[in-house]
Amino acid sequence: SKEKRGGTYHFYTKEIAEKMDRNIMLEDGLRQAVSLGHFHLVYQPQVDIQENQLAGFEVLLRYTHPTIGMVSPSEFIPICEKIGIIHEVTEWVLKEVLKQQKKWKDTGFGEIPIAINISPTTLENPSFLHIVQSLMKQFETNPTSIEFEITEDAFMHNMNHVKVILGKLNLMGIKISLDDFGAGYSSLKYLKELPIDKVKIDRSFIKGIPEKEREKAIIESILELTRRLKGEVICEGIETEEQLLFLKEQGCQFVQGYYYSKPLSKEEVEKKFITQGLI
Ligand code: C2E
Ligand code: CA
Ligand code: CA
Ligand code: CA
Repeated sequence: SKEKRGGTYHFYTKEIAEKMDRNIMLEDGLRQAVSLGHFHLVYQPQVDIQENQLAGFEVLLRYTHPTIGMVSPSEFIPICEKIGIIHEVTEWVLKEVLKQQKKWKDTGFGEIPIAINISPTTLENPSFLHIVQSLMKQFETNPTSIEFEITEDAFMHNMNHVKVILGKLNLMGIKISLDDFGAGYSSLKYLKELPIDKVKIDRSFIKGIPEKEREKAIIESILELTRRLKGEVICEGIETEEQLLFLKEQGCQFVQGYYYSKPLSKEEVEKKFITQGLI
């Protein structure tokens, strides 16, 4: 009965109540985050390991709640989707990135390729294409200097619609990369049916190098497959030299991970990478 399990009952309600408080605080905070300037961006280098040079960056969103502090995007992005502000947030990210790219170009650093995470619901926003186009016009963006990383949940609801949007982005010259490749259920099907230029092999496979023969075999097969499809590959979550050497030997071109660098502020990017040219 409830009385007998009273202690436990109270324990759980307290826990649930705390979680609810946190969620409510996050929802409130996130609603105002763009206008209050509580978001900022960090950049993680992507390295061409065959040419031994910097290839570009993936941009990652950061949020600091006034009282909770730093919150992981794995927690706050789903909340943004739930409360219906993800479009606004994505637009903020896009604008900041294109503005930054233009600044770097105007300073003489050249066009620095940047990969941007696009959440699945954003692709369903009817005005998304228009927003992308007008921001690109405003900041004179070369489409080949941006890449959209999408995960396969993008295709769950409305495969045909997403196919059309991706086709249009592709025609505009924007590269499409399939994020977390291999982690979902239908990666191969999407690779076959959609205009995808690049796959990003999920970190869960990289973690298995060097000891797990199965993971290694899967990585080798994905590399072979993408070679035959004339697509590009990047591996995420490279942390050790062993992983790097294995991937290099297997002919993987791009990698990203703590081995080279954690995500950096734009000031760190300028200091560490751009002014010095390479990595
Ligand atoms: P993701 O796109 O798979 O991003 C890679 C995540 O792995 C990042 O975490 C990055 O900091 C982390 N990482 C990079 N290298 C290593 C490594 O060597 N080892 C380990 N253990 N981790 C590494 P982060 O920044 O916390 O992002 C988590 C997820 O949040 C991202 O996963 C992405 O799905 C989402 N996200 C981040 N920024 C945005 C954004 O602007 N828009 C959208 N829609 N989603 C975003
Ligand atoms: Ca990503
Ligand atoms: Ca990923
Ligand atoms: Ca991943």
